[in-house]
Amino acid sequence: MSTHSPKHVVILGGSFAGLTAAYELKRELRDRVRVTVIDKSEQFVFIPSLIWMPFGWRTPEQISFPLRKSLERKGAEFRLALARKIDPAKQEVEITPVDAPEKTETLHYDYLLVATGPHVQFEAVPGVGPHGGFTESICNVDHALRAGKAWKEFLKNPGPVIVGATQGSACYGAAYEFVFNLEYALRRAGVRDKVPVTYVTSEPFPGHFGIGGLKHAQAMTEWFFRHVKIDWAINSVVDKVTPGEVHFRAGQLHSATDEKSVVDLAGKTLPFKYAMLIPPFLGVEVVRSSGLANERGFIVTNDNMQHPTHPTVFAAGVAVAVAPPAPCEAGCSVPKTGYISEVMAHTAAKNIAALIEAKPMTPKPQADIDGKCILDAGNQGIILYTDRIYAPKRRKWQTLIPGPWAHWAKLAFERYFLWKMRTGRVNWP
Ligand SMILES: Cc1cc2nc3c(=O)[nH]c(=O)nc-3n(C[C@H](O)[C@H](O)[C@H](O)COP(=O)(O)OP(=O)(O)OC[C@H]3O[C@@H](n4cnc5c(N)ncnc54)[C@H](O)[C@@H]3O)c2cc1C
Repeated sequence: MSTHSPKHVVILGGSFAGLTAAYELKRELRDRVRVTVIDKSEQFVFIPSLIWMPFGWRTPEQISFPLRKSLERKGAEFRLALARKIDPAKQEVEITPVDAPEKTETLHYDYLLVATGPHVQFEAVPGVGPHGGFTESICNVDHALRAGKAWKEFLKNPGPVIVGATQGSACYGAAYEFVFNLEYALRRAGVRDKVPVTYVTSEPFPGHFGIGGLKHAQAMTEWFFRHVKIDWAINSVVDKVTPGEVHFRAGQLHSATDEKSVVDLAGKTLPFKYAMLIPPFLGVEVVRSSGLANERGFIVTNDNMQHPTHPTVFAAGVAVAVAPPAPCEAGCSVPKTGYISEVMAHTAAKNIAALIEAKPMTPKPQADIDGKCILDAGNQGIILYTDRIYAPKRRKWQTLIPGPWAHWAKLAFERYFLWKMRTGRVNWP
């Protein structure tokens, strides 16, 4: 029996990528590895369900579970702390426990996995965001709860709605889901006829998603916009938001009811009584200041999900830099979905395990990652699948299945995924 203490893997972030990697490492190496997950939040949240929270269709409790219990059951440690500094040369991380913000602790790691997700950069566009701005957000539980309060107020005296994603955003899927769910919520509330709804995006066409689109996605999305009477503005560059108005530097507004009507939005404003705009994402502060990241704060990795010059550092999920696969004049970033985050996490964890066991690593180039997603639209939706999501020219399989079953599939998947992550069954599909 070995007398060496097991290698210590520190994982920053306990969400889709970090939690998946922690379970995978413990599954592969059991007590031959010590795994510590650090997160500033003690709850795992199924983020894809945040789109339902403003309409009262989900509570935070229904879509989350405590991380500590699940991790400890699998033999991993959990620290409720903010990671403040990474020193890749010394292989150390500095953390501040959430319940003792005056304290600083230093953890040594043999391997570090960065899975810290995004910093939502509201400050990129003046007036955007719930903290000092005039638009709502659904990017975390607190924002979604706030968006719900604003929604209740809005319903008392409804008017125009704007939903979308600003230049540089990476989260178009959530913006589409939110606008379609909102439209459905308006119908259920009996006020649809009082509310003009506009979708605003930096995408060059609807259904581009920051990945160059998918076969039939543009036609299907435009058809659906027309069907539910949502106008849409493409190539949008939002200059600023002031109370009740979005100011545009660029954009073309398409009418849902008049196919020929296209209005140039440059220098114009659109009014709103309720707005939700998703801004660009950056890497989080601890990563941006670590010297490990690119200019946007994301970590460039090789095909093993390993940092090219710091081989003890790995990254997965939104924290990873992905090159834009398709042109987007107004500025789109690349979406990294939950499924993609999981694929990256499995690759990183397996390769960390391989290094610990002195075995060869197994690469998974970004260009080989598939895309699987459900876009919910209230009582229907679209199931999307493509191979090679980040390599549009090399795709062979692309499927879009619209219908109510997409909504039912998302409901079932939410339950299944929460159970899978709570019980650590990350080797299940
Ligand atoms: C509204 C919305 C809807 C979405 N819908 C879908 C969908 O339908 N399907 C889909 O596939 N994807 C969806 N996504 C994308 C999906 O949520 C992300 O792909 C996924 O959450 C990425 O996982 P991650 O682990 O990389 O990062 P995150 O989930 O962002 O997690 C990062 C974790 O790191 C922690 N953290 C960050 N910084 C620190 C620090 N300094 N110290 C300690 N902890 C830290 C955070 O607390 C967090 O728990 C949606 C995203 C949004 C915002």
